[in-house]
Amino acid sequence: MQFKDVIGQSAIKQRLIQSVRENHVSHAQLFLGPAGSGKLPLALAYAQYILCPNRTETDSCGVCPTCQKVQKLVHPDLHFVMPTNTTKSVKSNPESDLFMEEWREFALKNDGYFSDNDWYAFLDIENKQGYMSVRDAASLLRKLSMKSYEGEYKIAIIWMAEKMRAETANKLLKLLEEPPEKTVFLLIAEDPEDLLATIKSRTALVKIPALDTTSIETALQQRYGCDPKQAHDAAMVSEGNWLTACQSFKDFEDHKFFFATFQQWMRLCFRGAYSELIDFSANIKTIGREKQKELLQYGLRIVRNSLLFNNNLAEIVMLPEDEKTFNSKFAPFVNPANLAQIAALFEEAIRHIERNGNAQIVFTDVGFKMVGLLKKK
Ligand SMILES: [Zn+2]
Repeated sequence: MQFKDVIGQSAIKQRLIQSVRENHVSHAQLFLGPAGSGKLPLALAYAQYILCPNRTETDSCGVCPTCQKVQKLVHPDLHFVMPTNTTKSVKSNPESDLFMEEWREFALKNDGYFSDNDWYAFLDIENKQGYMSVRDAASLLRKLSMKSYEGEYKIAIIWMAEKMRAETANKLLKLLEEPPEKTVFLLIAEDPEDLLATIKSRTALVKIPALDTTSIETALQQRYGCDPKQAHDAAMVSEGNWLTACQSFKDFEDHKFFFATFQQWMRLCFRGAYSELIDFSANIKTIGREKQKELLQYGLRIVRNSLLFNNNLAEIVMLPEDEKTFNSKFAPFVNPANLAQIAALFEEAIRHIERNGNAQIVFTDVGFKMVGLLKKK
C-alpha cells in the first residue's frame, strides 16, 4: 500500500515520511487512534516506504519487487501479529501464523480498512473474542532473531495490540527493550486503557486522529462513485470513521434497492400480472435470504405507514421524498378491510424466510394473495 492510497491523514503521512528521510525511525511505535481512522493502512504504507529502495520524497515507488511483495503482504521482512481464536479448521492453540493466508486475503480485499469484529466474523470464531497468545510473541521473537532477507529493515506490525494477553506482552517487552538491529515494531491499538503501561512507556506514540469529513466525502466519491450529496450525508454521520461512512452508504444503496424492488412488485400486483409475478419471485430467489427478509420488512413498513397517510399523519412518515410519494399513492389501497390480512401475510412470509422456506414459493404466494387483497374495499 502506498501513502497515496491511504485516506486523508496528510499530517501523519508527512511526519512518517519525514522520520524515514531524516533517518529517525523509532524502533517501536504505537499507532493509537479510533476505529476507522486508517491505522493499519498507514502502517502498511509506512512499512512499504521504509523498505522500498526507490522511495521518493512523497511515497514508495509502488512498482519495484520490494513494493510488490509488500503490497501482496508477502515480503519476508514484514511480519504480522493479529488477534485470533479457535475456528472450525484451527481447533486448538490459535496463533497468527496459522491464519496468514486468511489475513492476506481479508486485509487486501478491504485495503486495510476493517474492524476487529469484521476480522473475527471473517475467521468465523463465532462469539469468542480474539487474542494474541504467548505463542505469537515466541514466533515473532524467533523470526526477528534471524537475519533480514533483503539485508534491510525487519518490520513487525502488531494489529490490535490491546488484545495481547499479559504473558504475551511481557514476552514482547523484552524484545522492545533490546530490539534486534534494524527492527521496527509498529503496534496498532484503539483502546489505550487495555494496553499495558509498560508497553505504552516503551513505544513512541503516534496519535492518529479520526478522519476529517472532507477526506471521507472525497474518498466515497472516488472509490464508490457516490454522488456528492450522498457522500456528504454519509460523511456527516460517520464521526470520522471510514467504516461507519461505508456502512451508511451501503445502507443507503440497499434502501434504494428495496424501494425500487417493492415498487415494481406492487405494480405487478395491481395489474394482476400473474406470470410476471412468477418471474419476479424467481429473480428474488437470487438475492439471498437476508435481503429477502429485509425486502419484506420494508414492505411491512410501507403498509404500516399507509395507516398514517390515511389518518392525515403524513408529516410523521420518515422517508426520502420519492419513497414518500410512492407510499402516499399506495396508502389508499390499504384500508380496514385488508390491513390486518396484509400485515399478517408479510409477517408470515418473514417467518418462512427465516426458517429457510423456499423464497420463490413464499414470494409467489404473497404476490398472488396481494392481487386479491389490494382490491378489497
Ligand atoms: Zn518500491
